[in-house]
Amino acid sequence: MPSAKPAGMPRRQFLFTAAAGAAALGLGLPGLARAGQFKLPPLPWPQKALEPYISARTISFHYGKHHASYVNNLNRLIQGTPFAKLKLEEIIKASYGNNDAAFNNAAQVWNHTFYWQSMKPGGGGQPSGELAAKIKAGFGSMQACLDQLLKAAAARFGSGWAWLVVKDGRLVVVSSSNALNPLVEGMRPLLTVDVWEHAYYLDYQNRRADYLKAWAQHLVNWEFAAKNLGM
Ligand code: ZN
Repeated sequence: MPSAKPAGMPRRQFLFTAAAGAAALGLGLPGLARAGQFKLPPLPWPQKALEPYISARTISFHYGKHHASYVNNLNRLIQGTPFAKLKLEEIIKASYGNNDAAFNNAAQVWNHTFYWQSMKPGGGGQPSGELAAKIKAGFGSMQACLDQLLKAAAARFGSGWAWLVVKDGRLVVVSSSNALNPLVEGMRPLLTVDVWEHAYYLDYQNRRADYLKAWAQHLVNWEFAAKNLGM
């Protein structure tokens, strides 16, 4: 695996809102971590389950058109190339900096699958146990963690993502542009929120902050974050 020093893509596209170092494991996304033809994974809930905060119409386009296109593009791009033998996370790491088309589509397949799981009907609330303790250690309080996450998401210029990740054993918030995924920087994602306009425009138009507030209060899936922490 080349430890890709990206050529076509600026390496420092992450904006950190807290400090840290390096180390990580790929996350196992069931149904995705296999080589060959990738399939659009099923949503973890019915398309209207996140209403009224995210409409079935938004999900039908976001999942059924955008996410599906990334899967189709990826399959087309990797066909007959060495990438076809790799798992999704391996394609993300191997294409980073040397094959933007493969990278963008592979990362967007992964990011969206992770995003769907980062939400659930009846989400929001507070994390508990070890995750809550790590959040307190990393940010001082749960509110400070959420504030940083929403601030990073709101401040991301153009399209991208905001993430809660483990970096050097500490929880930090980062945002990334376009398709960029923290795995390529050795971070371990716990949660993500999509701030591409396609994630919220039909429901909120330009009001990204309202979408983010609804996401944090009603949708965020802390159990998924705890699971990714390995608990
Ligand atoms: Zn999206």
